[in-house]
Amino acid sequence: MTLRPVEVRGHLALEEHWDLRHRHALGRAGEAFARGVERGAIVAARCAGCRRVLLPPRVFCERCFCDTELFDFESREGELLSFTVVRMPFAGSPPTPFGIAYARLDGSDTALGALVEIDPDQADGGLAIGTRVELAILDSGFGMERLRYRPVR
Ligand SMILES: [Zn+2]
Repeated sequence: MTLRPVEVRGHLALEEHWDLRHRHALGRAGEAFARGVERGAIVAARCAGCRRVLLPPRVFCERCFCDTELFDFESREGELLSFTVVRMPFAGSPPTPFGIAYARLDGSDTALGALVEIDPDQADGGLAIGTRVELAILDSGFGMERLRYRPVR
């Protein structure tokens, strides 16, 4: 590692380069979710205690700490709860502009994050909180990369 002094907007900063490989263990529920997407399914979890449907799936319910049961979730439509439109690219980002959203699919008790299709000519991407969206599974990518919310017109 070598620190290099650089000027950033009139201020001195130290710049360094990290060449870092990162591996993220998916865990039992995350692996089931990723493998589900590969076969065109959305895997959710149902809490054995409170019966909430958790999407993305978790191995236990964070409310009552009961174990969950994984299952193929049928609904593909839901409501947009939160979103942002990204216009400045960063290392590894999709081409800009792109949208990221959290939506709660009908029948789920939690929100699932995924990229969302936007209208690039509108500041808000043509989206609003409460917009009905469908969740599509694309043909390319892996796991979460393959998920895309699309506004229901
Ligand atoms: Zn629970």
